Amino acid sequence: MALKTGRTVKSSIAEHDPDFAPPTFAKVVATIGPASDSPEMLARLIEAGVNVFRLNFSHGNLDEHARRLRTIRETADELGRVVGVLGDLAGPKLRISEVPEGGFILGVGQDVELRKGVTRAFFEDRVGEPVPVFGVTIERIIDEVRPGQRVLINDGAIRMLAVESEPGVLRCRVLVGGEVTSRKGINLPETDLSLPSMTDRDHECLQWAVANGLDFLALSFVRTAAEVRSLKETIRGMCAADRAKGDEQGSTIQVIAKIEKPQALDNIDAIVAESDAIMVARGDLGVEMDLARVPVAQKKIIECCEAHGTPVIVATQMLETMIDRPIPTRAEASDVANAIFDNTDAVMLSGETAVGKFPEVTVRTMRRIIAEAESHMRAHRLSKPPMRFAEGHSSTAALARGAWQAAADLDAAAIVCWSQHGGTARYLSQNDFQIPILAYSSDPRFVRRMTLLRGVTPVLHQPPTEGGLGFWNRTVDDHLVALGLASPGDWIALLAGRPLGVAKRTNTLTVHRVGEQDSGYMRE
Ligand code: PGA
Ligand code: MN
Repeated sequence: MALKTGRTVKSSIAEHDPDFAPPTFAKVVATIGPASDSPEMLARLIEAGVNVFRLNFSHGNLDEHARRLRTIRETADELGRVVGVLGDLAGPKLRISEVPEGGFILGVGQDVELRKGVTRAFFEDRVGEPVPVFGVTIERIIDEVRPGQRVLINDGAIRMLAVESEPGVLRCRVLVGGEVTSRKGINLPETDLSLPSMTDRDHECLQWAVANGLDFLALSFVRTAAEVRSLKETIRGMCAADRAKGDEQGSTIQVIAKIEKPQALDNIDAIVAESDAIMVARGDLGVEMDLARVPVAQKKIIECCEAHGTPVIVATQMLETMIDRPIPTRAEASDVANAIFDNTDAVMLSGETAVGKFPEVTVRTMRRIIAEAESHMRAHRLSKPPMRFAEGHSSTAALARGAWQAAADLDAAAIVCWSQHGGTARYLSQNDFQIPILAYSSDPRFVRRMTLLRGVTPVLHQPPTEGGLGFWNRTVDDHLVALGLASPGDWIALLAGRPLGVAKRTNTLTVHRVGEQDSGYMRE
């Protein structure tokens, strides 16, 4: 038995209407930047369907991020929409020191030095020709690179090979040349670095993120599960000191591990098991490993996340050319659709919304591509009864299984749950019901955390003070119709507990026709 076709969201996809942004199951994460931080643009992006905004701590200072966070929250409140905020820690990203105005041009075959104690690059006169000498932001790496290992600058655009090292100096030969300007990134794919997973600046950003109640925190250049565990423990400690900020485990921010190093791929199972969510960070991944292997890595990471029930975001260059143009390339449209076919939970925009000329058009375009891909998938894949992750969730799992059966038999339009701490919403999302999930909580922190869950529309709502579950039914009907997720007469399945608004009480499954007054035991 399987859900028949898996109902689609009620709106049809308006062809040739670039302004149309249909609701989708997969979520959209958009990086905020100078192109998108005005209240007007943020409102347009939320209307276009951004679920989570990303603050990139690699750029800008904390005052700027504070201003953006305030604007996001105010705008979301004004629109009555639930929007999550993700802070992205830069991690131990290596960079070239300052380079004098105009940059240095490196030619093929040229010798270059990386040297400790250099804050501003210069040319050193040697017999024959001047040698460019650069400093780096984390100096000890200069002693860790061995001859024969690659040294890549500017996302791999400039390629060098280490040829000779002595304490404090690394000599390299240029294999692919180009222009080096100030603070360009360095990747050392073959070198085992002794770097800490978080820099001083990351710790500062972490403090700020906890103090300001961000919903998600991404950690860059993760290599091992222990790094994720240690960040989670730090957060737990910080929140325990201030109980109001944490949930009952004392943890409030969900930790996202960015997979962008080959070492992380070697440890992927343990990292996914430890993380609240995963990001396939294809930018650095495509520099650190052969680009030809990135599409397969994406599929493997997503498969691993599926097996663990961990939400996953596919990131970087998804609609890159839309930074400058109002339409994507065919290849980019296919890339977004293929991430959906791979079963990702979310897709991310970086420069497209942070510094691009067409942030809103980009989000709408992304939504339309996702909607088409999802409607194709629902027509070709059957939803299976939920079997997964039953351990430790047994009553939720049993009820969810019942809800699936009821939804299949009645061809239900949606499934609705009261999920005070988000556990039921997460379970339903993991099991891919292929019908919309409407999830209620009265706690804004947990509602915002649901923004990454595929298929889940989170609703912040106070539990009804009178009329009990029957009263809630009528509210749900109104919301479903207003959101275009169901029409009067459609069957829906509901999962809740008594009293509403208390965590871990889910014990009731009912079915209900939208718009019909129920008699029966849901009434109190
Ligand atoms: P970044 O991460 O934008 O912080 O580098 C994403 C990526 O590397 O793909
Ligand atoms: Mn990266």
